[in-house]
Amino acid sequence: MKLDRKYFEKKKNPDADDNMFTKCCNEYKKGGMFKGNKDDWKLIEAHIEKHLMDYPSVLNVEPKFCEECGRFLQYLCEIDVNQTQGYREKDN
Ligand SMILES: [Zn+2]
Repeated sequence: MKLDRKYFEKKKNPDADDNMFTKCCNEYKKGGMFKGNKDDWKLIEAHIEKHLMDYPSVLNVEPKFCEECGRFLQYLCEIDVNQTQGYREKDN
């Protein structure tokens, strides 16, 4: 069984059915952060700033939004490959 975001949203909201998830990006309709929303952007910005501070090998972070409904979907990180490899070698 694959556990996806829908699984956990349904767990939190037992009466949620499939109609409560967007068709375009399969996100829970009631929640989410939106492209162009200033408050949401502040949260996204703060998250990215913290991520950059916590992970020195991350060069930049790009927030991705659903092209259809504008819901925030994920952060894409560009990683400094040289630094990452050094880190992995140390870990092993
Ligand atoms: Zn969408």
